[in-house]
Amino acid sequence: METGKEYYQLLKETVEAAFSAEEAAVIEKAFFFSYDAHDGQLRKSGEPYIIHPIAVAKILIGFGMDCPSVVAALLHDVVEDTPVTSEEIRRMFGADVQLLVDGVTKLGKVPLQNKEEQQAENLRKLLLAMSEDIRVIIIKLADRLHNMRTLKFVREQKRRDIAKETIEIYAPIAHRLGIRPVKEELEDLAISYLDPIAYKEIEDALADQEPLRKEFLDNIKDKIAIRIKTVVSEAVVQGRIKSVHGIYRKMYMQGKSFEEIYDIYAVRIIVDTVSDCYNCLGVIHDMYKPIQGRFKDYISTPKPNMYQSLHTTLIGKEGIPFEVQIRTEEMHKTAEYGIAAHWKYKLGYKDKEADKKLEKGIGWVKHLLEAQSETGDATDLLNTIKHDFVSDEVYVFTPKGDVISLPIGATVIDFAYAIHSAVGNKMTGAKVDKRIVPLTYAVKTGEIIEVLTSSQPGKGPSRDWLKIVTTNEARTKIRSWFKKERRDENIVEGKAEYERELRRNNMNMTQEQENTLLGIIIDKQKFTTFDDFFAALGYGGVILSKIMPMIKDEYNKIVKASQDAPVKYKQAKTVSSEGVVVEGISNCLIKLSRCCNPIPGDDIIGFITRGHGVSVHKKDCSNVPDDIYNCPESHRWIKVYWNSTVKAEFSASMLLTCLAGKMTMNDIFTALNAIHVTVQTINTRGTKDGRLLINLTIAANSVEHLKSVMTRLAKLSGVLSVDRSGADI
Ligand code: MN
Repeated sequence: METGKEYYQLLKETVEAAFSAEEAAVIEKAFFFSYDAHDGQLRKSGEPYIIHPIAVAKILIGFGMDCPSVVAALLHDVVEDTPVTSEEIRRMFGADVQLLVDGVTKLGKVPLQNKEEQQAENLRKLLLAMSEDIRVIIIKLADRLHNMRTLKFVREQKRRDIAKETIEIYAPIAHRLGIRPVKEELEDLAISYLDPIAYKEIEDALADQEPLRKEFLDNIKDKIAIRIKTVVSEAVVQGRIKSVHGIYRKMYMQGKSFEEIYDIYAVRIIVDTVSDCYNCLGVIHDMYKPIQGRFKDYISTPKPNMYQSLHTTLIGKEGIPFEVQIRTEEMHKTAEYGIAAHWKYKLGYKDKEADKKLEKGIGWVKHLLEAQSETGDATDLLNTIKHDFVSDEVYVFTPKGDVISLPIGATVIDFAYAIHSAVGNKMTGAKVDKRIVPLTYAVKTGEIIEVLTSSQPGKGPSRDWLKIVTTNEARTKIRSWFKKERRDENIVEGKAEYERELRRNNMNMTQEQENTLLGIIIDKQKFTTFDDFFAALGYGGVILSKIMPMIKDEYNKIVKASQDAPVKYKQAKTVSSEGVVVEGISNCLIKLSRCCNPIPGDDIIGFITRGHGVSVHKKDCSNVPDDIYNCPESHRWIKVYWNSTVKAEFSASMLLTCLAGKMTMNDIFTALNAIHVTVQTINTRGTKDGRLLINLTIAANSVEHLKSVMTRLAKLSGVLSVDRSGADI
């Protein structure tokens, strides 16, 4: 028989236990097809590639997924990474499997796209496929899970990129779909790669107390089990410890100490009926003292990802708080498998209830895609997931009693847009629990919110709302309104902004030069007319600060070309890959010094080292003598400067010192997101004296840009200082 038999052994037993002989035969066929297609390819771990599809298939069998899903899992990388075509998949395994495989296959590279645009387009394709067939995303999550488990073999930068994408996009999606174990494992793995030191600290703190903790939990578990039995006969009582990432979030993002985290310990009680849940709650509250304000009834108000349970936090005898979660068996399945559980029911019984739940569970995907199709910009999707999904949620009600979930901090305007863009666009005010509130009012869980609207034609949102709203969804919808309804106004606004920016940068041109420059800009930005470009600036579809480096660059070219160059002589000079120009020396080695990390726009100076070329320092670096003309090695200090065509984006690090508890990583993300700054890395560390140190690396496009970002961060309450030179400690 075929080669690869020994690898099929890894899967055979699991497959045979879960599927009929007929289905197992199809899976076997898919295995050997995949084995042949990937033959000769290796994983970064050095193992044969087939190990990966096998692992993904196993994860899916563990979820109880069906035969086509497992077949697609085995074939999921075949179209992307081997010569096999999607058409062949259809011929051999049918249209169902083809659809699943196509759904997880990335788009081919489109030239002229940056990384973020590519990521956004791929995500949009994935969500589209998922709205057609939910199995696509479950396969993708299993794929990502195995890749994360084996990420240590991948080189450092790529590892960080993948871990970051996982925590920003895939873990939130798993959360929205309610697949808790996958969400938690993805987050824990991501943290272990992104912030290994903090991860280790938490792991050690947990390991330290391992025996104590086990004793504590077992003790409570046993006591509860005995008492519960007297009321409910069929109850399962389990103990569980919070995930590392869960602790990390509370410690480093919310600034709590290990001791302040109430739900490190949790006891879970699984019973038969909903009324048993409430009966158990009564028993528990009788046994232990509940902590005020920490009871949550997710049975009567399920979370948007369909999660249901009663939560309460209690104080044990030793003064140690612990959480109790009470739920039925069905709720438990939803908590563990989320959407996958309902999808399974649907297959089994074709029941209406499961259909409705499934519809609700993926409703947000359609919602997202709709909002995005209005602007046509896929990066909006990416931002919505990155920003709106990770925040903690508040639950509020419409006057009819429908629950709307919003990220913490969302305003009544965000609420209006979450209902429908037509409601938001016609909004004139809002009532919270029957009281009129200002539009800046941030909604809180449990409030009933009524949006007041105007029927006047021509009524629309105000531009100021863009500064008030906190959800990306609302922002996108408001922009989209301005894009459609206020073209003339946008053109005027955009043009004014453009001219202001040119003046600010002292860019003076003749009318002819100005037109040439605009012509180049609209070409590069793919607009057909000047007005289209100005309109896009006006509604925020193009962010001027992002393209300013390109504009300056083109401006320099135009102005230079017009200046007469009387005598052209070639002077010896060297330009480094970072864009530093050293005049008077040709072919020398140029290095940016580590002590001060100069970046484009900094005032710089060069030092001719012995045998290692020229090292470049910031003029105010402590290693540069105050008076370079009168110092021991003054002849070695030379003038250097930045080339005008220096690359548009660079990494800049800074150190934020914050008051622990007053500032969280989310606040930083929100602030940076609002000004469209990309975070490359972020590391946090608590200090003994109650400070939170945040090491932040961002993508900046000029020193002015970097300075404005730093000023912005420094203004946040809770931030004590923002420092560039201390960024490497
Ligand atoms: Mn894969």
